[in-house]
Amino acid sequence: MPSEFDKPYDPKSVEPEMYKKWEESGFFNPDNSPGKRTKPFTIIMPPPNANGSLHIGHAVFVTLQDIMIRFERMRGKKTLWLPGADHAGFETQVVFDKKLEKEGRNRFKIPREKLYREMLNFTAENKTVMENQLRKLGASCDWSREKFTLDKDIIEIVYNTFKKLYNDGLAYRDSKIVNWCTKHQTTLSDVEIKYVERKDPLYYIKYGPVTLATVRLETKFGDTAVAVNPKDKRYKDLVGKEIEIQTLLGPAKIKVIADEMVDPKFGTGAVKVTPAHDPNDFEVWRRHKNEIPGPRPVIDQYGRIDLSGFSNRPAAQKYHGLKILEARKIMEEDMQKEGLMVKIDPDYMHTVATCYKCGTILEPRILPQWFIAMTAKPKGGGKSLRDLAIEAVKKGEIKFMPQRMEKIFMHWMKNLRDWNISRQIVWGIQIPAWYRSEETYVGKDKPAGENWTQDTDVFDTWFSSGQWPFATLMATGKNDFKTFYPTNVLETGWDILFFWVARMIMLGKYSTGKIPFKTVYLHGLVRDKDRQKMSKSKGNVIDPLGMAEQYGTDGLRMALVIGNLPGNDVIISEEKIRGYRNFANKVWNASRFVLMHVAKAPIKNKIKYSKQKKQMLEKLKECNKKVTKHLEEYKFHHAADTLYHFFWHYYADKVIEHLKKDLDSEDGTVEKETAKALLLKFHTTLIKLLHPFMPHITEKIWEHIPKEGEKKLLMIEEWPKL
Ligand SMILES: [Zn+2]
Repeated sequence: MPSEFDKPYDPKSVEPEMYKKWEESGFFNPDNSPGKRTKPFTIIMPPPNANGSLHIGHAVFVTLQDIMIRFERMRGKKTLWLPGADHAGFETQVVFDKKLEKEGRNRFKIPREKLYREMLNFTAENKTVMENQLRKLGASCDWSREKFTLDKDIIEIVYNTFKKLYNDGLAYRDSKIVNWCTKHQTTLSDVEIKYVERKDPLYYIKYGPVTLATVRLETKFGDTAVAVNPKDKRYKDLVGKEIEIQTLLGPAKIKVIADEMVDPKFGTGAVKVTPAHDPNDFEVWRRHKNEIPGPRPVIDQYGRIDLSGFSNRPAAQKYHGLKILEARKIMEEDMQKEGLMVKIDPDYMHTVATCYKCGTILEPRILPQWFIAMTAKPKGGGKSLRDLAIEAVKKGEIKFMPQRMEKIFMHWMKNLRDWNISRQIVWGIQIPAWYRSEETYVGKDKPAGENWTQDTDVFDTWFSSGQWPFATLMATGKNDFKTFYPTNVLETGWDILFFWVARMIMLGKYSTGKIPFKTVYLHGLVRDKDRQKMSKSKGNVIDPLGMAEQYGTDGLRMALVIGNLPGNDVIISEEKIRGYRNFANKVWNASRFVLMHVAKAPIKNKIKYSKQKKQMLEKLKECNKKVTKHLEEYKFHHAADTLYHFFWHYYADKVIEHLKKDLDSEDGTVEKETAKALLLKFHTTLIKLLHPFMPHITEKIWEHIPKEGEKKLLMIEEWPKL
């Protein structure tokens, strides 16, 4: 028996040794796979954000994807798992802002070039750390094909897509009302909004003959109309008329219009229209352009009252420059004094849009931004981006795991609005659009002629990552797009279904004419044993790398896969991980026993299986079949659970116990040689089946299992078919 097996299993020494062997073998790269492999199997790894360490959610995806990859590699497919790293635009900008803040610096005071270079170095460092963490988790991905979202060739592809969209009329620049974070000084897309319930006073204010209700008193300065529902009889006589009103800035005139948007049940049924600061009001104005004045901005980019347009009204001075909530309070008092406040409902519950990163209430602003049309058809004919995606899912070209996600996906797709892809940050791919007076040019290089300036905004990071599957495969410098696209599985957290998955389907289908992946497997959020979300403030965060260090990666992987159903929460605790570390020890100890007895190969002509032993083999066959089927059906939790119980409670507890007596017989007897053969059969099969789940320990054991013929790494051994 090899001396290593005298000692308890030591993942600390075995794991790095095994990973090194795999990596040096070159077999992560499908070009080096042994044998004739024609059928590809591809997963493009969701590129982790290169702005920090991997967290437990990353460990979940590494485990699930590595299981699929190792399984298919053993099944003889040309298997590619392409790793990458994401510059993660706004997310990284937020992380970096915090770092700058700690250093007493401020991004708005650092020149663009310098800030970009600093951030590039920051992500480069994080990227290296992250790659080593992926190795630590046992990821058998092809490092030779690794891609970064800011690689030159990736940017080139992203630019080409943008140009194609522009030529098709699907990328356009327009001044529309957009979501603005006053803290982060950038716009955000609709999926980056976090809606929260809030209690605020609802003010009933006097507008001449009308009383209307509003929460946002401070936007009053920007009102350009009063709106009522066309069916509301109470205001029938006022519609189309100008009413005289008294305001804090003096007397004014304002028109009453009728619009379906107004809910007659809200407040008094009359509302103010502030097109510069409310998305619905902006739409009202668009519908009534000929009747009422256009947007009149009264709040600046920092969320302060800006009444510089009211220089003819001396009273404006008092409010100019105030923060929103300060202004609201002071206006409330002033209006009460002047008899303009009818009543206040102090506990009005309503929903507000906030920045998903900092919780600041978003201030809608009108800004010229680049949008991607979701529902418009391309100029030259064809389907809209939305319809391309809906069609692919409806036709069953793309399947969701769990299936219920399909419904959620379809619902969201139906209600799509155009996507704002401009971000006012430095960190990202600068938009390749050039302007000169009234002209716009889209292209990588500055056009000929004088006075062209480039757009200073960068793309929403999801615009580039939305192209990830085809962009990576086109950028490897090989024939990879032809061989590996469409990919087989996209595995990621369900929380980025809209951010990422939907965009990949739309942009993939649009750019290449083909779907980017056939199966979307969505895992749930990781929670602690009390089903609480993990967060630093709660102190319940489980660091996967610390756990891997302490209990071994294989135990951690088993803990992450067992009980993990697609779309459901992943419950994880240190006890659970410890439990599967014990399983690793069990596998090790069983291997010690086997290696002790099978040092010499069984003598073939002495092997005679009794009926009972045949039944045992039958059970092994069943287990083999079950595990294979579960893996084919993406039921990784069932596969792992089946193996765990079969190994421990049948093989170790029953089969090995049963064989012990026979193994004590004389060498060369039918009893002994048959027992050896059976033991070897069981062990060889189970170690192979366990490999995708617990790759390190099984590879180590494999080194010592006696076998005929060529000695290969377990990772490229054939999947058992009993
Ligand atoms: Zn923010």
